[in-house]
Amino acid sequence: MSAAAYLVIRCDACTDSEIGTPFEALTHRQVRAHAKERSGWRWTRDGRDLCPACAARTNREKP
Ligand SMILES: [Zn+2]
Repeated sequence: MSAAAYLVIRCDACTDSEIGTPFEALTHRQVRAHAKERSGWRWTRDGRDLCPACAARTNREKP
């Protein structure tokens, strides 16, 4: 993996939302931590990334 890459994560529910970081993230874990803290993204237990809108929708739908 290139150290100079600016990584992004993409919402797995709507597939048209994505978020990156204003700094050089070396791993997707760093991107997810930033997205979660700053923007309300969720990283689900089964490994999906959800944008704030989809995360809110998922929270309302209890299994
Ligand atoms: Zn979404």
